[in-house]
Amino acid sequence: MNHTTDTSTEVKPVRRVVIAGGGTAGWMAAAAISKTLGKRLEITLVESEEIGTVGVGEATIPTLVTFHRLIDLNEQAFMAATQATIKLGIQFENWKDVGQHYIHSFGTTGKDHWSAGFQHFWLKGWARGLARDYGDYCLELRAAEESRFAHLPRTGLNYAFHLDAGLYARFLRQFSEHYGTRRVEGKIRQVHTDPANGFISALELENGECIEGDLFIDCTGFRSLLLGQTLGVEFEDWSHWLFSDSAFAVQTGSVKPAIPYTRSIAGESGWQWRIPLQHRVGNGHVFASRFIDAEQAKQQLLSTLEGEVLTEPRLLRFTPGQRRKVWAKNCIALGLASGFLEPLESTNIHLIQRGITRLMQSFPAVINQVDIDEYNAQTEWEITHIRDFIILHYHVTNRRDTPFWRACAEMSIPDSLQHRIDLFRETARVFRVPNELFAENSWIQVMLGQGIEPRSYHPVADLMGDQELNGFLEGIRGGVERMLRQLPQHHAYLQSYCPAK
Ligand code: FAD
Repeated sequence: MNHTTDTSTEVKPVRRVVIAGGGTAGWMAAAAISKTLGKRLEITLVESEEIGTVGVGEATIPTLVTFHRLIDLNEQAFMAATQATIKLGIQFENWKDVGQHYIHSFGTTGKDHWSAGFQHFWLKGWARGLARDYGDYCLELRAAEESRFAHLPRTGLNYAFHLDAGLYARFLRQFSEHYGTRRVEGKIRQVHTDPANGFISALELENGECIEGDLFIDCTGFRSLLLGQTLGVEFEDWSHWLFSDSAFAVQTGSVKPAIPYTRSIAGESGWQWRIPLQHRVGNGHVFASRFIDAEQAKQQLLSTLEGEVLTEPRLLRFTPGQRRKVWAKNCIALGLASGFLEPLESTNIHLIQRGITRLMQSFPAVINQVDIDEYNAQTEWEITHIRDFIILHYHVTNRRDTPFWRACAEMSIPDSLQHRIDLFRETARVFRVPNELFAENSWIQVMLGQGIEPRSYHPVADLMGDQELNGFLEGIRGGVERMLRQLPQHHAYLQSYCPAK
C-alpha cells in the first residue's frame, strides 16, 4: 500500500455520511454508525434492488459476536431472523492428504506455561506415546465433533455463526432505520467530485436525484464505484499466491440436523464449502479457472450435493487482492469494494467489521490526512497476516495429485509466511503479532493439520517426567470431556434458543 501523504485535505466538518451500497458491508456500516453517532450525523444509504447483492458470505468468525455486542444487537432475535446456526470452527477435509481431515476450531487448546505454549507439552507427550490427538484438549473442537453447543455461564464457548446473508442485510436494515439511517432506492449513475480537491461531493442517481455528503463509504461490491472507479485507487493482485478466481454457489435443502461447523472439502483444483443453516445448506465450489473450466467445476459441485437443489448454481468471478489504500480523500471502502480474500477462513465479514470498528475509533470530526494514513497502515498490516494464513493452507500440503496442488506446493510464498513456517518446523514456536486476527492456536492447528511436524519442542517440557506429563494431559482432557457432557445437542439448543420464524 502507498503511504504518501495527500495534501489536498480540507477543514470541513463531517456531518453527512453517505453509504453507497446495501449488501452486508453497507448495512453493517449503517448499523454501527447510526447506533453510535446517529444523533449527530445525517446518514443516507443508497442501494439498487435491480443490481442486487453478491448474495453469498454466510460463514463468520467469533468477532461477529463482539460486533453485535458493541452495537447492542439482540442475539436471539438476530439468529431467529437470519436462520442462523452456531459455528465452532471449520473442518478441512482432503487438505493435507486425500482422506484426511482436521478441525480449525475457535477455542483454546490445553493450558500454556508462560514460557511455552501447550503445543510443546503436547509434542513431548505425543513423542512419548502419552498424548491423544491435539484437538482432544480443546472444548470447542470436541463440541464441534459431537455437534453440541450451549452458552455456558462463566467459561463460555468461543463461537460464531452461519447465517443467511440476504436475511442479515434485511435485519440490519430494520435496525439501522430505527436508529435514523435514511435508505434511498436507486442506481448511482455518476459520482461527482469537487474539482478543487478531488473529494467526492455527491452521488447522482438515474432519476436525477443528487445525494451530497461529507464522508462517503463505498460498499458497492466488486464494482468499487467510488474508491476504485472514481478515485482511481489501484488494486493489488495476489493471484500469484491465491490461484482461485471463481466460485459456484448453490443452496440445498437440509437432510440432517445442522452441524456447528463449516466444512471445507478440497478437490482437484479448489475446494467446496458446506454451510448449514436452520432451513437450508449453502454450498459452493471455489476453483482456479486456469486449472479447471467452469462447466467441469459446476458438475463437480452438483455431483456431490446432498438434498434437494433449491437454486440455480450461480457463477462468481473475482480477483484475490486488495486496494492499495482503503481510505482516500473523503471515501472509505468496506467489503468487496476494498478487496477480496477467498472465503477459506471466513474473513471477509470480519474485515468489514474491522473496517467499521477502525472507522468508529478514528471517526473524523474533519477529514484529516493523519487519520487516513493511520487507517490505511493498520488495514494493510492486518490483511497481510490474514493473507499469509490463507496461503498456508494451500502451500503446506502433501498433495501432489493434480497440477493445481503441485503448483500450490511449488509456489514461492511471502517471506513473512516462510518465516512462520520455518520457526514452527524447527522449534514449534508461534508468535502472534500485535493486532493480528489469528492467534497462536489457529496457526498451530492449521500447521499441524496441514502436516508440519516440529523437529523440537521447548526444553521446559522436559522438566516434567512421564508420570507428571501424563497427569497434566489427562487432567485437561478429562476436564474437556466433563464439560462436553453438559452440553446439549446443537440443533436441540437452537430450537429453544432462537427458533427461526
Ligand atoms: P455486495 O453484496 O455486492 O453489495 C453491493 C451493494 O452495492 C448492493 O447493495 C448493490 O445494489 C450496490 N450497488 C452496486 N453498484 C451500485 C450502483 N451503481 N448504484 C446503486 N447501488 C449499487 N465472507 C465471509 O465472511 N464468509 C463467507 O463465508 C464468505 N463467502 C463468500 C463466498 C464467495 C464466493 C464470495 C464471492 C464472497 C464470500 N464472502 C464471504 C464475502 C462476502 O460475501 C462479502 O464480504 C459480503 O457479502 C459483503 O459484500 P458487499 O456488501 O461488499 O458487496
